[in-house]
Amino acid sequence: MRSVLVRIVLAAALVVGGLTALAYSFIRNETQSRMLDNLGDWIVERAHNDSVIFELAQENLARFSEEFLRLYTSEVMVDDESFWSYYQRGGDGAVRLRREFFDGTYAEDGLYYSGVTSFIGNNQSVEDPDLQRRLVLSIRLLAQLGPAMINRFENVHVSYPENAIAIYAPGTPWGLEAEPDLPMNELGVIRSMQRSENPERVPGWSGLYFDATAQEWALTYQLPLDLDGRHLINPSHDISLTDLMERLVADTPEGAYNLIFRPDGYLIAHPAEPASDRRWVGQMSLETIDDPLLVDLYHRINEATGGRPGERALVHYPEMDAWLAVSELTGPQWWFISVYPDALLRQAANQAATAVLISGLLLLALLIAIIAYIIQRDAARPLAQLSRAAESVANGDYDAVAVGRISLPRGLRNEVGLLARTFHGMTINIRDAQSTLEKVVAERTEALESANQSLRELSLLDGLLGIHNRRAFDRDLKSVFEQSRRGLGEFYLMMIDVDEFKLFNDTYGHAHGDEVLKQIAASIAGSIRSDDRVYRYGGEELAVLFNPHGSEAPEQAAQRVLAGVVRLDIPFPESAHGRVTISAGLSRGHTDCLGPDEIVTEADSHLYAAKRAGRNRLISGQI
Ligand code: GH3
Ligand code: MG
Ligand code: MG
Repeated sequence: MRSVLVRIVLAAALVVGGLTALAYSFIRNETQSRMLDNLGDWIVERAHNDSVIFELAQENLARFSEEFLRLYTSEVMVDDESFWSYYQRGGDGAVRLRREFFDGTYAEDGLYYSGVTSFIGNNQSVEDPDLQRRLVLSIRLLAQLGPAMINRFENVHVSYPENAIAIYAPGTPWGLEAEPDLPMNELGVIRSMQRSENPERVPGWSGLYFDATAQEWALTYQLPLDLDGRHLINPSHDISLTDLMERLVADTPEGAYNLIFRPDGYLIAHPAEPASDRRWVGQMSLETIDDPLLVDLYHRINEATGGRPGERALVHYPEMDAWLAVSELTGPQWWFISVYPDALLRQAANQAATAVLISGLLLLALLIAIIAYIIQRDAARPLAQLSRAAESVANGDYDAVAVGRISLPRGLRNEVGLLARTFHGMTINIRDAQSTLEKVVAERTEALESANQSLRELSLLDGLLGIHNRRAFDRDLKSVFEQSRRGLGEFYLMMIDVDEFKLFNDTYGHAHGDEVLKQIAASIAGSIRSDDRVYRYGGEELAVLFNPHGSEAPEQAAQRVLAGVVRLDIPFPESAHGRVTISAGLSRGHTDCLGPDEIVTEADSHLYAAKRAGRNRLISGQI
């Protein structure tokens, strides 16, 4: 059974082990690819959320441009006089929007102004009616649209090909405070919108910068607006990215971190310095990044995506043992990158797969336990019971099995149960056959014994006279002799001979002689006690063994025997006594005798003495 169990366990281990190994590798791969998928979904969602602000800026400025063009191409008149009703030249030579437009005022144009400033550098001529018209239409639009536009932005402002700017920024009187000789249109950000610098007229996304005044990370978005090949204005938003930067650090998958690259390799943000408040690096070119792995990371993404990661790209980066999930932010088209350690993927995959492995092992253990239990219940224990029963039967103890002292699994509904039932029935049959046989043998043995007994009896009787024969005499004499020698009692032997019997035969015939012999034997048997016994010693000679009895002397008993024969009164006139008579010698058994024969000889000699003394008499004595 154990070897069967071992084979089953090996087979089960092989099957379960194989299946578990398959499931392990399948689930490992599946989990890994599912997690990568999740990571990809997460980065898309994340980039989408962080793009909302940029999309809003684009929509705002498109709307602003649209409105500006509508006004600019309308019949609205702005003459020099009305221009100067808004602006005034200061003592420093710079032309600025009057202060009340910032503090709050209803102007002659019917609009309410507040938070609006405007500044024209002292090197810039303001004689050009078109510049005057663009400036006035700009501040009107800023007063109208500004309050609705800046709910999510620092400000909305308008720059020009000329050295001028108009700003809607409640709380920040920027245009009133700017240095009079500030060359606005030569600053890199605004200059990049000039037709000479930007012939394709693409919208401008500045790099990230730290606005020391607002203590915020920000960028500027500008939309150059041309009409008939002439550059009119650049409506612009300063966009605070503090929230985005906070989320860059805070909202990361467990164990991962995020960073932002500009497509041309400028590192926009990186959570490099956890100790510092400014954990992002602002703008840093590939040449100034002192982390070769980070530079390599940029190149790897660039190669893998052809410079356009699109909505979602997953790039394996073995050098950092990580996956790079990349998605472009709408607007500045920055690469939002999440660096996700491959070890986390492997760990999760291994955990899922290990759960399968453990389940497999538990299943195997359960399977083995069930198999062991079934084998034990249905085979091993029943077979052990059968084997004990067979042993008992082999030792001849059928009853133990037949009456159930040794139990058999007869109730099992399988081949073993059938075997047990058959074996039990067989055992009962054998037991019954055995007991019948034993009874028959006992009966036969008893019959044989009694037959033997009868035979033994017969062999000790004389066929003619019906009394014990010579063999019985020899046996009994030997027995009483031994007893007397051991002091267990004494005995007497009487030897008898029929007188003149040859003559009787000759006279009356042998057959009559036989009859007379029978009568004499019967008479003697009737004259003695039941525990005395008469024997035919040979021919017409008889013998009697006496046990001494109480008061009666053996001589008396012997005389009674002789008298009994005389009393038969069988006529024999030819004899001396006229009837059939007997003579006898009586001798006492004693311990001086060497053996039984000696007693016989002694009794015989007394018998001869009785013959010689005239017959029909008893002579007794001891040698
Ligand atoms: P005695 O008085 O001296 O004994 O004389 P006897 O004639 O009896 O002499 P003995 O004892 O020598 O003779 C024995 C005779 O007894 C011889 C034989 O014919 C006879 N006899 C012996 N056995 C039988 C028997 O079985 N049947 C008959 N009819 N006669 C027997
Ligand atoms: Mg004789
Ligand atoms: Mg005789």
